Amino acid sequence: MSFECPICFERYSSQRKPYTICQEGHCVCELCLQQLVECPFCRVSLDYYPQTFNRTLLQEMEEQERKKLEKKKKKMQQIQQEKIEQQKVVNWEENQKEIQEKKGIA
Ligand SMILES: [Zn+2]
Ligand SMILES: [Zn+2]
Repeated sequence: MSFECPICFERYSSQRKPYTICQEGHCVCELCLQQLVECPFCRVSLDYYPQTFNRTLLQEMEEQERKKLEKKKKKMQQIQQEKIEQQKVVNWEENQKEIQEKKGIA
């Protein structure tokens, strides 16, 4: 399923709502819809079908955005965790070195 308007190639958004324009389920944004008299894909006149706001599509997009953000957040957390782990190793190594040095002095 595409999240872009097939006519202007802009992503759907709350400013550019996706509308189902024919019974085949073809979808365009509301801005392009204003200039259409027929479905550009199946050539059916828009008079035959009530154009409906495709809320599901928009929700699906939002859901996907949310998941993407979550994934990004998780990745950031993972990187941070890895940094902490690395720091631990460095600390341990420094600690060992210190012990060795102390032993050397002693
Ligand atoms: Zn459009
Ligand atoms: Zn169509």
